[in-house]
Amino acid sequence: MSNALQFHGVVKCYGRLRALDGLDLEVPQGSIFGLVGSNGAGKTTAMAIALGLLRAGEGTIDLLGDGPFSPERHAGRVALLPQDSSFPPHARVEELLRFYGRIQGMPVAGLAPAIDELLEWVHLQDRRRSPVRSLSHGMKRRLAIAQAFLGRPELVLLDEPLNGLDPKEAARVRDLIRERRGHQAIVISSHQLTDLEALCDHVAFVEKGKRVRQDTLDKIVRRSHCVTYHLGSGTLPLARLAAELPDVTWEQHGNRVVASFPSTYTAEALNTAALRIFLETGVGILEIRRGSDLESEYMKLSAEPPPLQPPPAA
Ligand code: ATP
Repeated sequence: MSNALQFHGVVKCYGRLRALDGLDLEVPQGSIFGLVGSNGAGKTTAMAIALGLLRAGEGTIDLLGDGPFSPERHAGRVALLPQDSSFPPHARVEELLRFYGRIQGMPVAGLAPAIDELLEWVHLQDRRRSPVRSLSHGMKRRLAIAQAFLGRPELVLLDEPLNGLDPKEAARVRDLIRERRGHQAIVISSHQLTDLEALCDHVAFVEKGKRVRQDTLDKIVRRSHCVTYHLGSGTLPLARLAAELPDVTWEQHGNRVVASFPSTYTAEALNTAALRIFLETGVGILEIRRGSDLESEYMKLSAEPPPLQPPPAA
């Protein structure tokens, strides 16, 4: 099965700046794919290049197994929610969606039911006749999300989709995105790593225009071979843990301890032994979870190397 989106060695320069510096990406069909990186890493540029809004200097791009973006091959099959989308202020919500639906090539007969479904999806049914200028920032963002999903494109690129949504609406949109797994490939760029962890099955870390790592979320957060303990009171009994669980590695970050275990262990066996030791040594446990978390893995990968030390004085 071909990927929904594939970049190989893509370079994009703005003057002397290499915004994309040989970027590789493989977005599997039907996946929810998180794009993570610092400000200026090249995420927005990559999305714009994928959909033909910017031209790459070098490299190859394949969209839905049909080569780089071309209006003939891809019209109606891909969509983008830009980071700072804006709509004409006088246009009314339903009228605007009809307009974008026609641009997506949707048949006129299918427009009304699709728009009804999407307005319900993003909770804007009662604002269908409102002009855009009368919507709040979060409502405009929800309208933009509805627009990106019009016509059920095979690949949807969402740049910071949940920005500005209140917690209830963000949860609703997260659920709706999850429902599309397996039906559409959805690429989400976001700095909210807990949102990405709740949504994505694949993640790529991008820094300085290059992919630093791409894998399934389960592998990135090491679900099959590590457990995270959030500790309450007490001090981690490292000597005893090392003596009784010799093949387990312990990393402590504040009150969070990540135990990595080899394939000869199971999470269950580790928990049985570790919890007994914690209880016997008076260490309080607030929470236990399989795997690490996306934020810690990202911080580890993107950590700057320590500054060079000056040579010791002779
Ligand atoms: P953020 O997380 O802040 O949205 P990003 O990962 O989306 O960042 P881009 O917007 O793709 O990053 O920018 C990548 C690099 O390209 C940055 O150094 C940025 O300053 C530069 N850049 C982006 N657009 C232009 C432009 N039109 N002209 C010149 N440089 C640009």
